[in-house]
Amino acid sequence: MSNNRFETDAIRIQVAQTEEKEHSNPVFFTSSFTFEDAEEMRATFAGEKDRNIYSRFTNPNAEELVRKVCTMEGAPFGYAHATGMASVYATFAALLNAGDHLLSCRSIFGSTHTLFTKIFPKWNIETTYLDVADMDTWDDAVKPSSKVFYLESPTNPALEVIDLELVADFCRKHNLIFIVDNCFATPYLQRPMEFGAQLVIHSATKYMDGQGRVMGGIVVGEKELIEEIYTFSRSTGPAISPFNAWTISKSLETLAVRMDRHCDNALQIAQRLEKEEKVEYVLYPFLPSHPNYAIAKKQMKAGGGMLSFNVKGGIVAGRNFLNALQMCSLTANLGDTRTIATHPASTTHAKLTEEERNEVGISPGLIRISVGLEHVEDIWEDIIQALQKI
Ligand SMILES: *Cc1c(COP(=O)(O)O)cnc(C)c1O
Repeated sequence: MSNNRFETDAIRIQVAQTEEKEHSNPVFFTSSFTFEDAEEMRATFAGEKDRNIYSRFTNPNAEELVRKVCTMEGAPFGYAHATGMASVYATFAALLNAGDHLLSCRSIFGSTHTLFTKIFPKWNIETTYLDVADMDTWDDAVKPSSKVFYLESPTNPALEVIDLELVADFCRKHNLIFIVDNCFATPYLQRPMEFGAQLVIHSATKYMDGQGRVMGGIVVGEKELIEEIYTFSRSTGPAISPFNAWTISKSLETLAVRMDRHCDNALQIAQRLEKEEKVEYVLYPFLPSHPNYAIAKKQMKAGGGMLSFNVKGGIVAGRNFLNALQMCSLTANLGDTRTIATHPASTTHAKLTEEERNEVGISPGLIRISVGLEHVEDIWEDIIQALQKI
């Protein structure tokens, strides 16, 4: 591991130069890699020699990305996938057996929820959602077949912050593998392994690329777990493309400066929204009014780029707000240079019942903003003029 600081590693961790001595490393567009002779090929396949064989297994661009994220997260090993969901799926598919039981928090990414409720039951893998605010009920949910505890923090879109240290203690007590989807925070703001997580997953599509261009996913963590995930992944084919790995690795060079600005802009917008009469409440982890403010301060460096707020007037007011926006984008993505607004109750979470929405903190007038890197005054002017029109 390097002795450099986060920002330096993000820039200076690079694959070895080729004979051209290029300053910025190239994209390795090759499906396979050649060998000197029969002996080198034998030794490589026997695992005696560590080098690239085939890009479905490893590729220099993917390796650079993995080394960088491992260093950022303080993890020894990792593997990069084509999308965040490929990382989530490969992790579970590699680690679980038919009949295993999963524990998770209720507020998780929509496709992960679909995996748990529609796909895994095919293999008799059952999921129990825990109420994160009521730890006293957790012990009763554990079964002899319980294998994994999976969570996101901050959660989407209610931005609850879950105490990672407490969850890690619970997992040690019950011998559960503790996995965190760290997509909203990024390793710049939160390093779950320092609090006891064993695997950390990212949708690199979000803040890691940060410019809404390419898809990617990565899982990093403990050696034995990553070995299982690697074996599963190299045989089933969800590897990241060299181009996407190159793009994301380049983007990581600016992660720290981008996140600083995302967080500054988001905090300012959150503070101003709190004073608006048409806004019922604002959810942002670094606002003192946030119910988990103390936990956020303990485990996060800053509050992140995501905030949610509830406009008075329910579904209609929420939709009116989106319609009145002039600059902010209406799109399902997040973690982009561009500010993005969504109305979860009528879009991403429309299939849930009203009761299910309440359980994950989605009120009818909830607006989620992924605060971008435009000038904060331009973001604010767009939001305030739209608020005036609801
Ligand atoms: C987007 C997202 C994912 C899935 O990542 P993709 O790259 O879209 O496959 C998983 N978890 C969280 C929290 C996300 O925001």
